[in-house]
Amino acid sequence: MQLPRIKKLPEILINRIAAGEVVERPASALKEIMENSIDAHATKIVVELLNGGIRGVKLIDNGVGICYDDMPLALDRHATSKIVEEDDLYKIATLGFRGEGLASIASVSNFKLSSKIAEDKHGYTIASHFGVISEVMPSAINLGTQVEVNELYHNIPARKKFLKAEATEYGHCKGIFERIALSNPNIEFELKHNGKVIYSLPNQPLLERIEALFGQDYSHHYFEILEMSINGLNLSGYVYHPSYLSGTKTVQYFYLNGRYVRDRVIQNAIKQGFSGVLHHDHQPQYVLFLEINPNEVDVNVHPTKSEVKFREVGSVHNFISSSLRKALAQNVKDTTTSSNVLQQHLENKFSRTENFGNQTNSYSGKSDNYPSGNINSTSGGNHSIASNWNDRSNVNSKMVKQWLPNDELTNFARDVNLQHQALFSDDKNEDTTVLPLGSAIAQLHGVYILSQTVEGMIVVDMHAAHERIVLEKLKKQVATKSISSQSLLIPINAEIKEQLIEVLNTHREELERLGFELSVVGEKEIMIRAIPSLLDTGRIEKLVFDLLNEFSKYGNSNVISDHLEEILSTMACHSAVRANRQLSIPEMNALLREMEDTDRANYCNHGRPTWFKMTMKDLDGMFMRGK
Ligand code: ADP
Ligand code: MG
Repeated sequence: MQLPRIKKLPEILINRIAAGEVVERPASALKEIMENSIDAHATKIVVELLNGGIRGVKLIDNGVGICYDDMPLALDRHATSKIVEEDDLYKIATLGFRGEGLASIASVSNFKLSSKIAEDKHGYTIASHFGVISEVMPSAINLGTQVEVNELYHNIPARKKFLKAEATEYGHCKGIFERIALSNPNIEFELKHNGKVIYSLPNQPLLERIEALFGQDYSHHYFEILEMSINGLNLSGYVYHPSYLSGTKTVQYFYLNGRYVRDRVIQNAIKQGFSGVLHHDHQPQYVLFLEINPNEVDVNVHPTKSEVKFREVGSVHNFISSSLRKALAQNVKDTTTSSNVLQQHLENKFSRTENFGNQTNSYSGKSDNYPSGNINSTSGGNHSIASNWNDRSNVNSKMVKQWLPNDELTNFARDVNLQHQALFSDDKNEDTTVLPLGSAIAQLHGVYILSQTVEGMIVVDMHAAHERIVLEKLKKQVATKSISSQSLLIPINAEIKEQLIEVLNTHREELERLGFELSVVGEKEIMIRAIPSLLDTGRIEKLVFDLLNEFSKYGNSNVISDHLEEILSTMACHSAVRANRQLSIPEMNALLREMEDTDRANYCNHGRPTWFKMTMKDLDGMFMRGK
């Protein structure tokens, strides 16, 4: 048997094959043409979709335009104005460069391109009917370019069947629009769907653009990356801690030299940056821009893939995670009264399921009705706060357990319900004006500290806060190799599992570095001779037992360096003030002052918040004062 003779493929077929890769759906065509407008220095880009982009995607920009001679070339495969010689390939500064975007799109749609440059009196149009290209004709158009991509894949049933329902395709288009609009806040954008204005975004600062796209939570409660730049790497943007966000959105945008990327190395670096401050079922959220010398990165992996190849992966990884850690160690920029935060905090704790649906609705409503729609969290918030507080006595022990900072403290749940007395004190001598966390006025049910601040009041989860303080101190001591150890006056004998004896023997040195002195005295018996001085705890055996268990989880890996955070976290938990311990006012104030001095004091070691505030305004609102 013989194969047929080899023939060269016709141009139109080549383009369609390319289209199969580059333009999967209307959203990918939209991405190509929006990126072209940005490369053409447009300052205003208007996008109109019909039926989710399936019937049509139209774009108008005010960029530099295309001259008469170049009009047919624009639809030519491998014709581009963005690369002249091979060297250019290795320092790409534009979004496009392969010269195949328009050729591919034009081969699978009813396509029209019109453009006018400043030097000409009028513009020109060229059209393509599924790859059959027309003559260039004069056309009346303003400076810039207009592109229409109609009936994508309409006469190519094999591809058309891959298009999804209108709503799905619309969602993809909107996603692409948001992605591009977010990284170009200095460009004016408009998005219309079936005649309805979805977004109308002026040239604006990044934070305002973020608010317009994702809502006020994201412009009010952020951690800003502070001027981070080393070795030609520059990172800027915002990161978000879910504790301060009330919606169900997950905002995750990372741009490399202006190009949206979703890369595993980067995602991992971000995760590491958040480690220790994020509850495990929460996602990090971020809008980040990394600038890097184009020589140091290869974006030419695949036209539609958003992965990248870094030359120095390790240093990029470290740079990102350490920048994020630094940012998250600051206090959150909280530009509003805290009613959102408070509302979210309480709703999470007391009525997770009940209020969830409402929140989702107000969010999706918001983004679709921009700019008129606005979440009004105050009215809804007050209601739910009030009802939650009235319901407090009904909080059953299961729920209490859920919002306790630590599994260990189950007994607590019972006690919280039993003990109904807040201990008030009138010692209010501290000067609240200079103290961000105010001065303590009472301890509530042995669990919370109430503190009066200039603006109102703060409630602190004392165990969670103390745990964080101890953890941060331990981390510092370990980092400077200065863990101070304290010998026990009377060494403690403890019985442990045989298997843990082995763990102890394997990791003896590391345990010593952490400030423990342990010796094996029997088959299942150890002697505890010294512990870190920071950990003055009444339950030393339990501490050692938990720590050995923690070590046993990690096998023979580089335990300390790989799992430092978890290990120190376990240690910190033991020494933190127990619930139901009566603290004096000076003790409470000392805790508040330590919190102010501690990095990441806003979260407990499990990533939950350690305090929230209610301003006088919030309280007045709740009591409807002045209404
Ligand atoms: P690429 O973007 O990779 O160069 P395209 O097929 O997307 O390839 O575009 C081909 C060329 O057409 C571009 O290099 C550019 O010169 C021109 N072009 C496309 N869209 C526009 C636009 N909106 N404004 C000005 N020129 C454009
Ligand atoms: Mg292009």
